[in-house]
Amino acid sequence: TLSNSLHAADVAHSIHPYTNARLHEEQGPLIMTRGDGARVYDSEGKEYIEGLAGLWSVAVGFSEPRLREAAMKQMEELPYYHSFAHKANEPAIRLAEKLAEMTPDGLNRAFFTNSGSEANDTVIKMVWFMNNALGRPEKKKFLSRTKAYHGITVASGSLTGLPGNHRDFDLPIIPVTHLTCPHFWRNGAEGETEAEFTARLLTELEETIVAEGPDTIAAFIGEPVMGAGGVITPPQGYWPGVAEICAKYDILLVSDEVINGFGRLGARFGCEKYGFVPDIMVVSKQLTSSYMPLAAIMMNDKVYNAIADNTAKLGTFGHGYTTSGHPVSCAVALENLAILEERDLMGNAARLAPLFQEKLQALASHPLVGEARGVGLIGGLELVADKETKAAFEPAGSMAARVVKHAQEAGLICRNIYETVALCPPLMITEEDVEIIFARLTQALDQAADWARE
Ligand code: PLP
Repeated sequence: TLSNSLHAADVAHSIHPYTNARLHEEQGPLIMTRGDGARVYDSEGKEYIEGLAGLWSVAVGFSEPRLREAAMKQMEELPYYHSFAHKANEPAIRLAEKLAEMTPDGLNRAFFTNSGSEANDTVIKMVWFMNNALGRPEKKKFLSRTKAYHGITVASGSLTGLPGNHRDFDLPIIPVTHLTCPHFWRNGAEGETEAEFTARLLTELEETIVAEGPDTIAAFIGEPVMGAGGVITPPQGYWPGVAEICAKYDILLVSDEVINGFGRLGARFGCEKYGFVPDIMVVSKQLTSSYMPLAAIMMNDKVYNAIADNTAKLGTFGHGYTTSGHPVSCAVALENLAILEERDLMGNAARLAPLFQEKLQALASHPLVGEARGVGLIGGLELVADKETKAAFEPAGSMAARVVKHAQEAGLICRNIYETVALCPPLMITEEDVEIIFARLTQALDQAADWARE
């Protein structure tokens, strides 16, 4: 069958991202062949509801004809042009204008890349270029957090704060300090309140800046809600506190909204949800619903003008990609954003959020679950072997992987991140879809609990 020959070819010739290669040789791929709304179908015809929107990214579902048509129309008119040396194309111009209008006040300019990793890599270079322009080249260091995910290029992977991304590749390679992960349930001290936990993290931030020297620290980067580190929502007051300290020491604040942006949290952007205004914001994923690769770096005038002043001296900002501002990607993004607005999909996410979060919280009492956490249409269940001590299962991640496997058998795609099972469905889902997602997840958890008892 077609399925068998694809299976054999994949095992013979591919190496997959974030995959155990030897295990893959044994079990082979799950080949998806078709999408329909919030559902995808594999090469055997089995249906799944996509509980993670692909990789946290498909806002409009997996079969949107308007995105196909927007891509085809642009392919016919001008399939490619670049944006080096003053060149431009209409979709890229209109998208920059649209993003300047949608994003918080002050973020007036866009620089386009193909991926979130490239965008964060570009942020690092922009900030360094800016500080060179301002005559302070020693202001280079980045502050990030443990369990942050900012991508996997050599530099953005250095900002990421997950052990495997560092240990296995000899990173970080740029100057970066990883602060405590703002996860109250895991990292709160014995008897500490949430407010005290926030205060402790803010003290750590300020003491780190003072100890290392504000003149050496360029920027703080963070995801308002951490995604790929395990869906970690910040403690009360954390973000306004971080913003205040960054402003005090002239440290740029970068909001990585690659997952959070465009309605995921029930607000348009994560920084709006948590009440701060960044100097730089990075968006991707739901920008095009990932039908085409695209990311954008939005920046305020302070950043832009410092870069522009330096280019006046040096000639150019010597950075960019062959496909920066790709017209087809930008045309798809414009259509995708138009759909989000016309169908009020960000509003749909906000309206479904109470049901989604209620269903998630109901699973907090499940025997395998240590913490249920989330906001808007994103959620995580952190599994524990012992609810009292919060001890994880051994080997690490094994129980969450088992739950995800059972969920897949039951027709739900979700993802395990270490011991957390993550959900992040398309913004276009219905109330009924939410019920189906949680029914299948509950069944998977029960099956795993039965296995654990035996
Ligand atoms: N930043 C965040 C917050 C992400 O979640 C991701 C990807 O999951 C990235 C950056 C990297 O994006 P990409 O995979 O497009 O390189």
